[in-house]
Amino acid sequence: MVNNDINNIKNNIENIRRAIEESATACGRKASDIKLVAVTKTHSVEEMLIASESADALGENRVQEAMAKKRLWPSTNRSQWRLLGHLQNNKVRKALQLFDTVDSLDSVDLAMTLNRVSQEMTRVTSVLIEVNTSGESSKSGVALGKFYELLDRVLTCRNLSLEGLMTIGPLSENESDVRRAFAQARALSEKARALSALPLSILSMGMSYDFRWAITEGSTMVRIGTALFGSRE
Ligand SMILES: *Cc1c(COP(=O)(O)O)cnc(C)c1O
Repeated sequence: MVNNDINNIKNNIENIRRAIEESATACGRKASDIKLVAVTKTHSVEEMLIASESADALGENRVQEAMAKKRLWPSTNRSQWRLLGHLQNNKVRKALQLFDTVDSLDSVDLAMTLNRVSQEMTRVTSVLIEVNTSGESSKSGVALGKFYELLDRVLTCRNLSLEGLMTIGPLSENESDVRRAFAQARALSEKARALSALPLSILSMGMSYDFRWAITEGSTMVRIGTALFGSRE
């Protein structure tokens, strides 16, 4: 990787931090309440290491890819690794060896498996419930109609620690459509907080093209790939 690429990533992070600050201030929030996850899928370990200097966490989508990268990852780098992509039951054990959190918990079945394997590994795994607020069937996340059933089950899992919700906004440039989806996730997280009496402090929403709207709607964690590393091949 040439110096130019390194400087680009550093500049991009600075710009993103500034945009987070502006969006937060504009709606009376503090930028320090909004975490930045660098989404590193398809990008090299070298690029990830640069990003890890200023991002709050790293996000990967696929277990296989994360496994290859972890082999090259320096043990002195303590970055938090968050799993963002859909997780299959048969990859749970591998995922728990690689990731600190699973942000894409989307079914009762997966919750049960994650809980059982976490217990076997004598760990408590931090999770986010991913909700499908866009209504797009191709999008991952639990359907709104099944959210409370999943929440109830997760709350019975002693080896899972529910920290909040994640959602992916609709693929749309229409501000009100996108914000409506984010507002829905926020409303669900508030109801879940009341029902569970847990802090549920993480509301992970907002990507490169919609993180400003997400912040206005209460996001506490944005997940940025393209705006940080450039477009993926
Ligand atoms: C790829 C991905 C992102 C980052 O998207 P960008 O548009 O590149 O910022 C965020 N969240 C999830 C779940 C993703 O899969």
